[in-house]
Amino acid sequence: MIENLNNRERTHSCGALRKENVGQRVTLMGWCARRRDFGPLTFIDLRDRDGITQIVVNQENAPQAAAKAKEVRGEYVIAAIGEVVLRDETARNPKLATGDVEVQATEIVILNDARTLPFQLDASDESLAAEDLRLKYRYLDLRRPQLQANLRLRHRMILEINRYMDEQGFTQIETPNLIKSTPEGARDYIVPSRVQPGKFFALPQSPQIFKQICMIAGLDKYYQIARCFRDEDLRADRQPEFSQLDVEMSFATPDQIYQLVEGLFARIFRLRDIELQTPFPRFTFAEVMRRFGSDKPDMRIDGMELQDLSATLAETIFAPYASVLSAGGEIKGIVVSDGASMSRKTLDELQEFAKRYGAAALAWIKLGDEFSSSLLKVLGHDTVVDLAGTAGAQKGDAVLIVAGKSQVVAASLGALRNEVARREKLVPENVFAPLWVTDFPMFEFHEDDGRYSSMHHPFTSPLDEDVPLFERAVNGETDLFSEIRAKAYDAVINGVEVAGGSIRIHRRDVQSLVFKALGMTEEMARARFGFFLEALAYGTPPHGGIASGIERTLMVLVPTENIRDVMAFPKTASAQDLMIDAPGEVDAEQLEELHLKIAEHKPHEPFNEEIFRRLVDEALADLPLIVLDQNSSHEEKEIAVLERLLEKVTRHCGILEGFEFENLTDHPRKIQVVQQIVGIVDFDSVHVHPYSVFFKKQPIIKEYLDKALGK
Ligand code: ASP
Repeated sequence: MIENLNNRERTHSCGALRKENVGQRVTLMGWCARRRDFGPLTFIDLRDRDGITQIVVNQENAPQAAAKAKEVRGEYVIAAIGEVVLRDETARNPKLATGDVEVQATEIVILNDARTLPFQLDASDESLAAEDLRLKYRYLDLRRPQLQANLRLRHRMILEINRYMDEQGFTQIETPNLIKSTPEGARDYIVPSRVQPGKFFALPQSPQIFKQICMIAGLDKYYQIARCFRDEDLRADRQPEFSQLDVEMSFATPDQIYQLVEGLFARIFRLRDIELQTPFPRFTFAEVMRRFGSDKPDMRIDGMELQDLSATLAETIFAPYASVLSAGGEIKGIVVSDGASMSRKTLDELQEFAKRYGAAALAWIKLGDEFSSSLLKVLGHDTVVDLAGTAGAQKGDAVLIVAGKSQVVAASLGALRNEVARREKLVPENVFAPLWVTDFPMFEFHEDDGRYSSMHHPFTSPLDEDVPLFERAVNGETDLFSEIRAKAYDAVINGVEVAGGSIRIHRRDVQSLVFKALGMTEEMARARFGFFLEALAYGTPPHGGIASGIERTLMVLVPTENIRDVMAFPKTASAQDLMIDAPGEVDAEQLEELHLKIAEHKPHEPFNEEIFRRLVDEALADLPLIVLDQNSSHEEKEIAVLERLLEKVTRHCGILEGFEFENLTDHPRKIQVVQQIVGIVDFDSVHVHPYSVFFKKQPIIKEYLDKALGK
């Protein structure tokens, strides 16, 4: 039986009680994590966000409480009132913070019951229920202590950020979410305007333009924990909406930004008692790409740097390598120390792995007791020995080799470096290795459309010494675009990009030049960024900034590989919220108000009787108000109710392109609507899902009308 809370109050949380509390009378409240029934004794593990306390109820001393305790099931919400007692020496649980004591309850109050859970909360990591199921019941999943701890860490991190930024003289300024496109390289989420037909807002991919305008406005030091929205292909460390610490500073030099961020990260990591070494070592983009094949190298991995083998093979007649070299490509390798013991199977798997990054093949040399290599036949023994020597391999090592365009070689060997380290357990735990990567290329070339785009974003300043190159590139020497470097920097910790930013362009003429370089005509630039170009003309201070992903940073700090572990209500890899079932459809009226039409026939479950009945049920649950209106005629009500069902049916399959209603104009409206419903379902079955099973719609519609109109 469920009771009221009345004026009962908690005296302690479920994680609080210790030996010192023995003898006290306490009231705990929480969820039943586990109940064990031993006849005269019933044990309940009572859980709240702080921990677990063992409650014991003794039938002899407290018969009423014992009876209640036997009613309690998993996840019931209860209050336990009683005395704290010391557990027997043998019954103590060192794994629980409260494990020395238990509460001998004299009163149990059932505050709420709970259905049987769709999955187990205390399963070990390996036996956790499928993530989709847990996301659907996110409120249950969030009861797991690990997720609760992560959210509390997140809270403390945000607090620490706010404190630190305030100490450093920054002002928190909120910028709007309904804006115009900000280019960060992803697709925008757009929001249609009702009052301005045919116009749309974009949700910010970042507050970039606004924070720069804050600098023009003289606000000097801006920060914000900003929500960003990016419609892009999701990966393990991405979400369509996420938070970032967004920072901008007037008269900023890169050094000032580095110091600010290093100080901040040092503070944040101290929350987990980790001392980050500052200043972070700095590497240029060119250097990390050459040495580690990645712009976010994992510096915990000792060595395994990319070794250039091109010179050793300059004279090769082995066709695949010769053609790579003559096309300006390169041949590089990494040395896996003690890798000679890698099995054929492992090498095959690594080969497949490398191919995912574009490598044509992965060649290998093993310096085991026997010298072996996939290249022996084609290059000959001496050359392969040379290669191993150039790579710096020792007896017992292996060399993994990729040939191709430099980007492909870097991408595949860079990824292999991480993969091999992971497999061979070469990544030390509890080590945190930060670095700055600086001087990123200003532009990146897209082979698919033969165009350049900004590597960071179009507001990033070129390096001063590269401005002459930039001018030449804009004036026709387009090959030079790939050589221009930007005042852009990333902070990386353990192979994760935790922050990225740049010194901005503060001159209108240079900004126009960048837009031009990106292929925007003056009109296009004015249409998209006219307001910004204009603002730049009113005394813009030199400025720069950075943004740091809150979730990414937490992933390093926790640590976890899953971004959904560090946010309360994440979306799936297909950008859905399974709990609230979003994105969802909107009413026809809403679409009309927004001047929108769904143009395409939607993919959906084929119509069958069950689906049709489901739509009928939905319509019944959502009847038009007219059915209650005493002044409306029966016929008017019938028509409105049928139209509601028509709406559900159309919405289920979208607007049917190519679907023509029979000429029904001579029929009464009621018949017209029924014919339309039947027509759409039949059309859909025949044209879209030809294997649908025929079923009779008319009797179901009649049943529906009867129910709707209360017969
Ligand atoms: N707006 C950039 C981003 O969101 C960060 C910056 O340049 O400050 O990645």
